[in-house]
Amino acid sequence: IVTAYLARTPSSADAYRRARAVFPAGVTHDSRYQLPHPLSVTHAAGARKWDSDGNEYVDYVGGHGALILGHAPPEVMARVAEQAMRGTHYGANHDLELRWGELVQAMVPCAELVRFTNSGTEATLMAMRLARAATGRSRILRLRGHFHGWHDHVAFGVTHHFDGSASAGVLPALAEQAVLVDPNDEAGLIAALDAHEGEIAAAFLEPTGSTYGQVPLRPDFVQRMREETAKRGILLIFDEVVTGFRVSRGGAQQALGITPDLATLAKILAGGLPGGAVVGRRDVLELLDPERAAQRGVEKIGHQGTFNANPLSAAAGVATLEILRDTDVLDRTHAYAAAFIAAANDMFCELGLPWVAYGAYGAFHIFINPNGLPVDPRSFDAASLGYADLKLPRGNRVAGKLRLATRLFGVDLSPWPGGLASGTHGEAELAQTLDAL
Ligand code: PMP
Repeated sequence: IVTAYLARTPSSADAYRRARAVFPAGVTHDSRYQLPHPLSVTHAAGARKWDSDGNEYVDYVGGHGALILGHAPPEVMARVAEQAMRGTHYGANHDLELRWGELVQAMVPCAELVRFTNSGTEATLMAMRLARAATGRSRILRLRGHFHGWHDHVAFGVTHHFDGSASAGVLPALAEQAVLVDPNDEAGLIAALDAHEGEIAAAFLEPTGSTYGQVPLRPDFVQRMREETAKRGILLIFDEVVTGFRVSRGGAQQALGITPDLATLAKILAGGLPGGAVVGRRDVLELLDPERAAQRGVEKIGHQGTFNANPLSAAAGVATLEILRDTDVLDRTHAYAAAFIAAANDMFCELGLPWVAYGAYGAFHIFINPNGLPVDPRSFDAASLGYADLKLPRGNRVAGKLRLATRLFGVDLSPWPGGLASGTHGEAELAQTLDAL
């Protein structure tokens, strides 16, 4: 597989040799690191992208989850291009930012107020600061394996450091403020809440489960979190960076019928450009308002950011959210992934492969159980096995080999392995993907 991949992608190999001399690991995002080399992509449109050797791929990376309308949707790009000619930064309020915020407010159930940031990482950082200020408490309860960006308050308890110890470079004092609970473990949740009664500012979670639902969260567990946090004065914060505008027009909170106190948004929010937001309860967001804070006799929370709600991101965000609101693109995206999952499982059965495809809301996961152990593919243990697979010596990684092998047939899965569908994935892409598998 590696030999065939090397023969097919010499130009990507050359680009990677140059990249190694400029970037640590030759990449600008940990998850883009891949042996023997990642693809160097030249352009993309709809469900497809092309590498510098001219190979075409059905794409399932989906801009790390940002591209629900596929690559370069013409209606969105036209509005970005038009805005680019009118200025990319006013250092002032502007109409597009206002329309963007009003759309978010109208679509996301908990969004009484909106504060834009530049990324999901910035949004979760701000949400934590708001929660600590609003409650006067310092601890943050999180679910093991749930990802909330790369800042220092959350850089442990995911993919590594599952025990909650600080990863290198992170102050142990910050890690000590985290209370980690296993997903779907109600007894563990209650025990942790009891043990830290009066100390926890917020409970953070990815509402459909970690990594696009690789380890699905049971809705009744989320409901229990809602009830317990409300009872104990803890803010419930849905990290909807991935699920926002994907699971439904109003995100996972709308689909589950569970309203959090705050939610963090990014990815689809900004239509393929950089952007994020913290949304939620008026009284909490008003801690960013000098007049309201003064009225309540509390200190205002600081928040800056040169590119917050910049006109280009706002143009892409408005165009994208309007399309999601007014068309059936989400239904089609969900239906595509469901059709893929059903067909892939039929095929695995026919071939006698001990693999399973699963997932919801337009995401799919392929569990390949490298050790052949009897585990539930949707369990936390299975996800750990997947991570263990990634750490195996190069030649032994099943997930990595699957990704390279499917590339030989023009399909680029995401690394978990799995993928994210978009409104532009259709019958041709489905047939080609099954063929490649
Ligand atoms: N939260 C979740 C659930 C995410 O999936 C991500 C990004 N993968 C983030 C936060 C961080 O967002 P960003 O990459 O925009 O900083």
